[in-house]
Amino acid sequence: MGYRKFSAPQIFTGSELREALVLITDADGRVEALVDRQEAGDDVQYWDGILTPGFVNAHCHLELSHMKDVIPAGSGMIDFLLGVMGQRAVQEELVLQAIEAAETAMRQQGIVAVGDICNTAFTLPQKQAGRLYYQNFIEATGFLDATAAARFAAAETVYHQFRAAAPAVTNRWGANSSIVPHAPYSVSPTLFGLIAISQPHGLLTLHNQESEAEEQFMQTGQGGFNRLYETLGLDIAFYQPQGKTSLQTTLPRFLPNQTVLLVHNITTSEADLQFLEEGRQAGSLPEVHFCLCPNANLYIGNGLPDVHLLLQHGVNLVIGTDSLASNHALDMAAEINTLRQHFPQIPLQTLLQWGTLNGAIALGIEDRFGSFEPGKQPGVVIVSEDLSVARRVG
Ligand SMILES: [Zn+2]
Repeated sequence: MGYRKFSAPQIFTGSELREALVLITDADGRVEALVDRQEAGDDVQYWDGILTPGFVNAHCHLELSHMKDVIPAGSGMIDFLLGVMGQRAVQEELVLQAIEAAETAMRQQGIVAVGDICNTAFTLPQKQAGRLYYQNFIEATGFLDATAAARFAAAETVYHQFRAAAPAVTNRWGANSSIVPHAPYSVSPTLFGLIAISQPHGLLTLHNQESEAEEQFMQTGQGGFNRLYETLGLDIAFYQPQGKTSLQTTLPRFLPNQTVLLVHNITTSEADLQFLEEGRQAGSLPEVHFCLCPNANLYIGNGLPDVHLLLQHGVNLVIGTDSLASNHALDMAAEINTLRQHFPQIPLQTLLQWGTLNGAIALGIEDRFGSFEPGKQPGVVIVSEDLSVARRVG
């Protein structure tokens, strides 16, 4: 079998940046070894920039790809949500075309695996081509308790479509689809309960603390979210805020043996992280990974999370692009670049690890993706040193 040999001024292994190395893979991209240049022999392909394992995009909504440029940047959280709900329905053909184009762009720009939110089965035909690995997070919403059973049943229908289509695809949890709650302000405690007990050992995700408005609504019941429910015609007179932060209200609704990918985390505080640490020690809270989507946060106008605080607490950090409704591209190098510009003290190799190995661990696929360890098939990507261009090369 033929081998391929790759080299560049720097190679990111999955956890560190190294120099003067050569990556050797088989013809299918399975890693054979990382060796010193002197030992690599002939036929080495040299690239400019940094060679890295393929990126893991931990949070995306591929089915919203037709919404690029529909909602203007800077709308704020409430008008963004109203815009998505009001304008997502278009001709199915356009939705499917946009899904294919967005996946192609993700692949070309070095993404190999995706944690993808699904409200529908529109992405299923594209995913069945198997060009990327997907964790399908089938999302349920419903803030009125009375709708919980129907909303859960609707999510289950979509879930079974995905399960039937990909019975052999597995990860650490034995299945690459799960039913998940949308956000603290859009899922009733009853619906949360139905979701949680249906998968007591599952991998789940939640849009967490995405805006100040969410934090205000969860703590006090005040603020912009009231305009959202009013516009939607929902009477939320029943709602009793618990006087706790959004994270502290919602995280206990998950089960201790679950793993939860919390996405956005704009208002996550020191007190929230202490709450998590204490709950983990007491065995009452799930394992948590924190996903950053900086370009979407800036697009909507929510600001950025306190990444230094998250780093100080040693939590597991991963990166996602969110959707083309709230981003200019599904481009992991662009997300890493934004983090580098706003948090220049964080070493590049740390940021790259969030975008590769940490994402693979969070999705339970680190046996195949995320680093150049022998036996893995992580994809080979070249990134320019200024992070402006990323391209899959193997
Ligand atoms: Zn999202």
